[in-house]
Amino acid sequence: MSSLHRFFIKPEQIEGSLVTFGQPQVHQIRNVLRMRPGEKVIVLDNSGWEYVVELREMDRDEVKGEVVEKRLNSSEPRTKVTLYQALLKGEHFEFVLQKGTELGVVSFVPLISERCIVGDVDYVEKRRERWERIVAEAAEQSGRGKLPRIEEPVLFAKACRDLKLRGSFAVMPWEGEKKLSLKEALERGSKPFSVSILVGPEGGFSEREAEMARRYGIITVSLGPRILRAETAGIVASAIILYELGDMRP
Ligand code: SAH
Repeated sequence: MSSLHRFFIKPEQIEGSLVTFGQPQVHQIRNVLRMRPGEKVIVLDNSGWEYVVELREMDRDEVKGEVVEKRLNSSEPRTKVTLYQALLKGEHFEFVLQKGTELGVVSFVPLISERCIVGDVDYVEKRRERWERIVAEAAEQSGRGKLPRIEEPVLFAKACRDLKLRGSFAVMPWEGEKKLSLKEALERGSKPFSVSILVGPEGGFSEREAEMARRYGIITVSLGPRILRAETAGIVASAIILYELGDMRP
């Protein structure tokens, strides 16, 4: 992979071989990176392709470039990890979005569970724009070929029902699980192509939630005898899954 700067853009910003950048990318290209016409960047339109673009005209509000090469991005993991992360206070949810994106999570679902401290309907909508920017920056910096999605928040019970309906392979790291490790859960049955992970809030999941999850076929797993912070647990579980299923190889 080259070290050219990467930018996710909307598909309509590419017309034929002409690419038009608007703000805030113009600011980034001209003022932050101080790039000049003739220099190259990589542009992604979320299709799985990436385009090497040579910068041409640059003014204060618009930068134009020309596609000089089109190639398939090869950094998306084969295993599709969806992280149902209970809403967290302060910057912790943002940490999960950023690090999860670097690791290769394809979809984040804000989960509202019994012991969530934050969780009014507005909470996510007020932060969506900021969260999407965090995900985009992390995706650009880490060389992702597609932007992870941030779904609408769901209540715990609905998440359980949705996962059951879709027949998804789902695990729930729960500190009350004393027998089964995440590794063992992954080794049960055939190798899954997609895995959903449910991680609790600061105060954890309740016993009742763990029972409900099990009734819906979600496997409760242990991440070991040490209690991880909620924001650590989601990242660690994502990394273990991608590693065990062979998605952390060159
Ligand atoms: N209930 C705890 C801490 C919750 S940790 C307390 O306050 O004492 C937050 C979340 O991280 C949990 O809901 C769980 O999903 C996950 N988690 C943290 N450490 C874990 C471990 N050792 N095994 C399984 N899950 C863990």
